[in-house]
Amino acid sequence: MDRLTEEQALALGMARSFAAERLKPVAAALDRDASWPRAQLAGLAELGFMGMTVPEADGGAGFDPLTYALVIEALATGCASTAVIVSVNNSLVCEPIAKFGTDVQKRAWLPLLATGQRLGCFGLTEPSSGSDAAHMDTCAKRDGAGWRISGSKNWITNGPHADVMVLLAATQKQLGPKGVSAFLVPMDAPGVSRDRHDEKLGIHAAHSCTISFDEVSLGSDALLGAEGQGFKIAMATLDSGRIGIAAQAIGIAQAAFDAAFAYSQQRKAFGSLIKDKQAVQFMFADMATELRAARLLVAQAASAKERGGRYTREAAQAKLFASEMATRVTHRALQVFGGYGYSTEYPAERHYRDARITEIYEGTSEIMRLVVAGQMLKDAASLSAT
Ligand SMILES: Cc1cc2nc3c(=O)[nH]c(=O)nc-3n(C[C@H](O)[C@H](O)[C@H](O)COP(=O)(O)OP(=O)(O)OC[C@H]3O[C@@H](n4cnc5c(N)ncnc54)[C@H](O)[C@@H]3O)c2cc1C
Repeated sequence: MDRLTEEQALALGMARSFAAERLKPVAAALDRDASWPRAQLAGLAELGFMGMTVPEADGGAGFDPLTYALVIEALATGCASTAVIVSVNNSLVCEPIAKFGTDVQKRAWLPLLATGQRLGCFGLTEPSSGSDAAHMDTCAKRDGAGWRISGSKNWITNGPHADVMVLLAATQKQLGPKGVSAFLVPMDAPGVSRDRHDEKLGIHAAHSCTISFDEVSLGSDALLGAEGQGFKIAMATLDSGRIGIAAQAIGIAQAAFDAAFAYSQQRKAFGSLIKDKQAVQFMFADMATELRAARLLVAQAASAKERGGRYTREAAQAKLFASEMATRVTHRALQVFGGYGYSTEYPAERHYRDARITEIYEGTSEIMRLVVAGQMLKDAASLSAT
């Protein structure tokens, strides 16, 4: 990360300026009012940040995985909600369309999603299945040449504002994961309905909601990838998404660190600044070390992705460590503020609330541990077989 290319440094510089000038000043108000950051998203689209994972040939910025992670991290230092809105559009929507879509699907959606004229969401979770994602009730039945979809998805980030969903539905429920298929569903299709946005602990400006499908009729061209390939598409998509969430977690933790560090330079107790108390210095030393470790894991996962092939373990390790690190760092940063940390006058409490979700969405910490352990056991078994 010390040696960024000119392009990487340019993108990072733009993201940092945007975060400092356009996100940080409004983040508290967006959070307080749970306001959707419409103007900020328009600005990010102008910079090409809504289509970072879209190849240039398809109308996007075509960033490499490290640049993408650096930009998401920088945006999250300004506003965690805005960062996840951007991450979902890029990782969970544009990327699977770019990777698994037909030419027609790519042409129909990518240029519009990449330029912010349309927004995407990703529908995997259901009211009765989250971690156990393959056991879904939403089903897609063949209907002439097309499909008919019924069911509901909940916690859908960007859901209230999205124009299209990458939807996972059971096409042959009895086959479990092998009976899941992916679809591109326009959100204005008859039979699609959305609830009011969810009320939650943090990331208030990143609206999510429950979306229901009542006999939604789709053409044959709605299928993304092959029939029965949906679960694989979802898991590959989440590998990439997890790098984005790890980067978001680092951005939130860095913002918490910076605010606490600045505060420690002006708050006095027992006749001296708290920055001079060794106990406080140790908190900063631990926070800075953990931040650095998380960045290295993200950089490693990004470079594994760049090399091609599977990077499931690297992405899961990066997300697991970065998200739990963000919880620890925001907890300590709030402590540095003392009672003021508990007040909405300072950003520490928002960072503390915002960090927590990174341990849950796109796979909980427990699921990350299962993924890492599963990959280790697989590697050990293939070694002993040779
Ligand atoms: C704000 C927010 C935004 C979200 N955005 C999206 C989105 O855009 N699209 C989408 O599809 N989903 C989204 N989600 C859903 C999210 O991915 C799920 O909440 C998450 O995967 C966990 O699923 P669950 O809530 O059903 O918990 P459960 O799966 O019910 O898990 C409950 C607890 O049990 C643990 N657990 C479950 N299985 C195991 C196991 N085998 N071993 C050990 N522990 C286990 C979990 O780790 C957790 O601690 C979002 C969620 C939130 C809160």
